[in-house]
Amino acid sequence: MTSSGSAAALLAAEPGPPAAVRALETLWRDLQLAIRSRVEAIQFATWFQRATLVHADEAVLRVGVQNEFTRDWLDRYYAEPLALAARETLGSARTIEVVVVPELALAGARRLTDESARGTRRADPGSSADGAGEPDAAASQESPPGTSAADGWRGLGLAAELGLNPKYTFDNFVVGPCNRFAHAAAMGAAEQPGRAYNPFFLHGSVGLGKTHLLQSMCFAILARNPKARILYLSCETFVNHFINALENGDIQEFRNKYRSVDVLVVDDIQVLANKERTQEEFFHTFNTLHQQGKQIVLSSDGPPKDIPTLQERLVSRFKWGLVTEMEPPCYETRMAILKRKSRERGRELPDDVAALLAERIESNIRELEGAVTRLLGFANVSGSPLTCDFARGVLRDLFTSRRQQPAMGDILALVTAHYDVKLSELQGKRRTAAIVLPRQVAMYLARKITRHSLEEIGAYFGGRDHSTVLYGIEKVENLRASDASMRELVDDFLAKLQVRAG
Ligand code: ADP
Ligand code: MG
Repeated sequence: MTSSGSAAALLAAEPGPPAAVRALETLWRDLQLAIRSRVEAIQFATWFQRATLVHADEAVLRVGVQNEFTRDWLDRYYAEPLALAARETLGSARTIEVVVVPELALAGARRLTDESARGTRRADPGSSADGAGEPDAAASQESPPGTSAADGWRGLGLAAELGLNPKYTFDNFVVGPCNRFAHAAAMGAAEQPGRAYNPFFLHGSVGLGKTHLLQSMCFAILARNPKARILYLSCETFVNHFINALENGDIQEFRNKYRSVDVLVVDDIQVLANKERTQEEFFHTFNTLHQQGKQIVLSSDGPPKDIPTLQERLVSRFKWGLVTEMEPPCYETRMAILKRKSRERGRELPDDVAALLAERIESNIRELEGAVTRLLGFANVSGSPLTCDFARGVLRDLFTSRRQQPAMGDILALVTAHYDVKLSELQGKRRTAAIVLPRQVAMYLARKITRHSLEEIGAYFGGRDHSTVLYGIEKVENLRASDASMRELVDDFLAKLQVRAG
């Protein structure tokens, strides 16, 4: 019961006209009524509201859900209510298949309540044994207050505008040189909240996995300690809550809420820029929690000092613990991510297609993921094979809007011509001055104008490690600062390459 597919494709596979689609919708509504009478309202909202019926025949009913986690959960805990509902609605038994329909996840991405209900549960696999069939204790913002402390706190997290995404776990995170340290540190911090790194400050540009890591930490903390009082929210939510509290005069309640958690996770803290009063409030929240050894986790699009108008005392506090950066993924990591994301969507991406995407989409994992979704979606609908030509057609806009980057080849051509050395020498083992300087200049140029990571640059130059590359780059920096002719030469190289980049 575990194949996946696209709603559009599955519906398109139905021989009938739109009437067939309407018939499925009607049948699904009837089935939903029958399911609803068998499960709690909150369970229904969590697991069945967003589901859809993608196929029905004499033998089989195929239910589409938004992700693998939901599919597994339905398989495991809701097989019986589904079967009973089918029998009741159709008068005879059907085999129920649950399949993943990724489009549902997109459609429902903003419907956060049920997202987060599942999210919290996902973090807490240990309790699934005793919690069989009632995953929704987690969704207790609807349950009466005081049912249990842990539930109350989960409810708090859920009530925040942003819920946890069940896909954002350490398991689903592809590790490469660009994020290895951040990933390891996040795991470390999640293992010993409040002790290992406090605060834990993660920064990097958009789409590199900050939110994914932050939420993974929440899940990991909850997995170890289901009673941990975690509050995960975007900084924007914090700002809005604060403003509302000011307006409604319930600032005390606001403070009680934020200052009594075990773990406070605030995503996109750069939003504090230019918000003086919120900064003030956050400063006190921070202090209270930190003094009590409570874990604080923050993310931002840049390092603390780059957040405009952030009070110096906050900048310095943010640096108390661990500040770590996520870099754009290198080629190999991009390949691994593409492979992983397509496999999650139920299809293998051929190597040449993956290579094409990895080459063209360099700086943003969200874009890589979007490209896979689009490509597989189109391939499913049209039934086309996944070829490079097909990918170029489907992703035309992505490919052409990208500013042409100077390639490594341009740099190597320029440097070997100027110094009259061979490429094989740049990549070889020799360390004579006549080779070392050109090699270091080439590394420097590569770092300046391509998005290659230090590791990748090292790989181009005969598999040198990243510290060697870093050393070379620094050396050229220094020469450039101290030696006018060197500066002129390097600037000339840069100008030529950038002209070529257009
Ligand atoms: P950010 O918060 O830095 O803007 P996100 O955490 O939202 O980025 O990541 C964007 C998308 O890319 C998400 O869907 C996320 O799951 C995915 N992603 C980012 N990094 C990785 C990774 N290392 N492995 C797998 N998926 C990733
Ligand atoms: Mg984010």
